[in-house]
Amino acid sequence: MNAPLPTVMLPRTVFDDPEFQDHENVVFVSDRTTGLKAIIAVHDTTLGPALGGCRVWPYACAADALTDALRLSRGMTYKNALAGLDLGGGKAVIIADPRKEKTPDLMEAFGAHVERLSGTYITAEDVGVSPDDMEAVARHTAHVRGTSATGLGDPSPFTALGVFEGIKVACRHRFGSDDLAGRVISVQGLGHVGFGLCELLHDAGAKLLVSDIHAPSVLKAMEAFDAEAVDPEAAHMVPADVFVPCALGGIVNNRTIPQIGAKVVAGAANNQLLSAEDGIALRSRGILYAPDYVINAGGVISIALATPGGNVDVVRDKTRAIGETLADIFSRADRGNKTPEQIADEMAEERLRA
Ligand code: NAD
Repeated sequence: MNAPLPTVMLPRTVFDDPEFQDHENVVFVSDRTTGLKAIIAVHDTTLGPALGGCRVWPYACAADALTDALRLSRGMTYKNALAGLDLGGGKAVIIADPRKEKTPDLMEAFGAHVERLSGTYITAEDVGVSPDDMEAVARHTAHVRGTSATGLGDPSPFTALGVFEGIKVACRHRFGSDDLAGRVISVQGLGHVGFGLCELLHDAGAKLLVSDIHAPSVLKAMEAFDAEAVDPEAAHMVPADVFVPCALGGIVNNRTIPQIGAKVVAGAANNQLLSAEDGIALRSRGILYAPDYVINAGGVISIALATPGGNVDVVRDKTRAIGETLADIFSRADRGNKTPEQIADEMAEERLRA
């Protein structure tokens, strides 16, 4: 009798990734000298060059990095379309620990690869990347934003402002008042956006519950905002009015939804819902969700509209208008018996088709 044939594992390609959705271009780049390993994904350039940040993260494997790049770049297409910007969607991920492996040389090598894409992709800050890192990238490419030479510098304060406006509108919709005084708000992730957002929320009188895997950031927030520390794993579970994800995506999923202790989920993190079904599950639990790419568009608005050192008022007004867009989305969702992200997707797709 013949021995059973060994199972042949076919290599997985980009096209097999569940997050692949007709991306225009996906580039794998590396640099031997600096150890750079990165993926640049251009999802859609219908409305203009693909603008989206660069994330530095110690992904467990290249497949995880690819999935993230594909998801995030598609999200940028929708975000830029709904924010009314003439820009397409793209994103880059660098596989490295931002606290241990990120160097100016590594960022410069990444910049050289961005330059090779001839402006079809424009990069900027994302998780694990600072304005200083973007200055290093800018030494090798002009296709970079979020530096002081290209605009208002770090986009995070504008992201925080947009999320703050969005939280107020979500509270008005869910609780009947946008007064944040006394509201209990659990913020997960105290980085560039999360920390600045805590300041705005604290100034508005909210009671903050804070969490981060980086303990010094938690201590700093406790001191600065009279905040209470929460285990990062429990940030979504604590009883609160609003849960504010400002760390990584996928936090809203079929495991966490039954545990969510807040009535509103509204934060900066990209791709908060692990799947489309999670939006429906949130709705059936009576939890109002502010679609991530709508509420966190302040940063990309600042990147797209700012001129070097100028027009901060224009950027601020457009960022504050995120609140009006969200209010419209929430009302349409109620009227149409749909989830807010279904409505947001429809509105973005309408603009792309037009
Ligand atoms: P950042 O790297 O400055 O901060 C992220 C923080 O989250 C870090 O302090 C990190 O230690 C913490 N963190 C990571 N995993 C965690 C966990 N499991 N629990 C608790 N904390 C954890 O990044 P950022 O620029 O503040 O961005 C935060 C989120 O907002 C990201 O999802 C990013 O994609 C999104 N976003 C950022 C901008 C922007 O302008 N920076 C714009 C749009 C969206």
